[in-house]
Amino acid sequence: MTSDKGSQNSADSQRRQERLRHSGLRNTRPRRHVLQVLAVAEQPLSSREIHSRMGAEACDLVTVYRCLADFERVGLVQRHEFGDSNARFELNDQTGHHRHYVVCRVCHGKEPMDVCPPHWLEEELRARGYSDISHSMEFFAVCPHCRDDSHPGAPQRQ
Ligand SMILES: [Zn+2]
Ligand SMILES: [Zn+2]
Repeated sequence: MTSDKGSQNSADSQRRQERLRHSGLRNTRPRRHVLQVLAVAEQPLSSREIHSRMGAEACDLVTVYRCLADFERVGLVQRHEFGDSNARFELNDQTGHHRHYVVCRVCHGKEPMDVCPPHWLEEELRARGYSDISHSMEFFAVCPHCRDDSHPGAPQRQ
């Protein structure tokens, strides 16, 4: 039903505004809009991809960059570097949980991994006096599909 979907959307939107408030960031229209795009994204997006998904009511690209930098600072998003010099961003869940990916060097396919560096690593940095600690960690490999020797991009076997 359209009305059900409508109320679900507004509940989601309210939850996102709640998260903005908790993060200490001011609730602005571009921030709400960027969060909304990230909330429905099926994979991490670059700032350009986010901007183009904002449609006709998009703010300018520089504002998208700034929103993402703010979100990263307060832990709302995780930044991913997939090796093509294009940072991509993904919404963390409510508990601050985030994902790391394994990226295929040949087809650039991405698969989420259920790993994260152990907590004591960040504790160690905190003990050394660092604050506002975050991390970024991706794995690069050749996926099972691309291991097929007939694939032109597949690495040579011995
Ligand atoms: Zn592949
Ligand atoms: Zn992690």
